[in-house]
Amino acid sequence: MIDVEALRRDTPSCARMIHFNNAGASPMPNPVLESVTRHLAREAEIGGYAAEAEAEKQIEDFYDAFATLLNCRRTEIAYVENATRAWDMVFYAIPFRPGDRILTAPSEYASNYIAFLHMARVRGVGIDVAPVDETGQVDVKGLEAMITPVTRLIAITHVPTQGGLVNPAAAIGAVARRARVLYLLDACQSAGQMPLDVQAIGCDFLSGTGRKFLRGPRGTGFLYVRGELLADLHPPFVDMHAARWSARDEYLLRADARRFENWESHVAGRVGLARAVRYALDIGLDAISERTERLAERLRQGLAAIPGVEVCDLGARKCAIVTFRRAGEDPTQTWKRLEAAGISCSVTNTHSARLDLESRAIERLVRLSVHCFNTEEEVDRACAAVAAQ
Ligand SMILES: *Cc1c(COP(=O)(O)O)cnc(C)c1O
Repeated sequence: MIDVEALRRDTPSCARMIHFNNAGASPMPNPVLESVTRHLAREAEIGGYAAEAEAEKQIEDFYDAFATLLNCRRTEIAYVENATRAWDMVFYAIPFRPGDRILTAPSEYASNYIAFLHMARVRGVGIDVAPVDETGQVDVKGLEAMITPVTRLIAITHVPTQGGLVNPAAAIGAVARRARVLYLLDACQSAGQMPLDVQAIGCDFLSGTGRKFLRGPRGTGFLYVRGELLADLHPPFVDMHAARWSARDEYLLRADARRFENWESHVAGRVGLARAVRYALDIGLDAISERTERLAERLRQGLAAIPGVEVCDLGARKCAIVTFRRAGEDPTQTWKRLEAAGISCSVTNTHSARLDLESRAIERLVRLSVHCFNTEEEVDRACAAVAAQ
């Protein structure tokens, strides 16, 4: 059972507003905020290097916390400044050859698809988009049928930015294993929202961000790379942290996933994200997903009962992200109205997920994303605010 009142005390702004943009940037709970500000204060007091040395335990806990969160080894985790760059670091490390093909899905995130297009331009790779089933999730059998001997990578978004869909990541992982194709999972929206187990999913790489459902500081992210693959992956950029300049004409890459990191980084951010992962683990990822899915379902039902409102989420299993539009009102207008009513939310549009939204002839949707510190009463107030006017 989640102690919702305790979570709300950790997030004092809950008293003033409704946080329904947890898929955009969730507010940091006090323990996370304190770990960030405490580190910054120490940097001001004793200098950045001394503060870093002093915080070694918290910094190193970043790797242990993520190893627990994802069920992997600490040596398989890298700290990267955001999810996009984490994803990029491993994507651009794959030695694509002309004619290779990348297999993805219609829900793929814009930045990932832009990288596919770039790789098509510079390396001559092809892009295949797997079909979806009648619920809108990836059709796993259809995806499997599209694998050919030149399929080099399966890259899927677990939970898309533009709706409540949860793609069948583990079923896709089983297919990737059988076909011996690399599998990169964008877990940006699922990390912190639901349990993630890289062994059960069967992915080779997984990327995520700090500020969304994990409730860490902005400007933080992480990358998981399967240990067995590390030795064969040369990061696209390498500095004196990722490698050692071992002789005049030589360098040696680090053996662990930190070969994907930079020398300079936001240390307070790393300490804060480690704390945020511990905070989520203390609540329990099963409990978080159970509660957020229940709140989101209540929200979908409440919205669907409003005349003219169309709830637009796809998928056999639906998560904490709820999207809708209201007949006769531009989603941007609905969003402004909700913001004015003290309900933080967002608008999702074709720029972030063109394949999916275009295929549904949708330009924009209002997006409400709930977290476990939200309440049933907040859900009902948001529905009333949508219905007002
Ligand atoms: C937000 C998001 C990203 C990008 O994360 P950043 O930390 O902003 O780079 C990638 N993929 C998905 C599915 C997202 O929702």
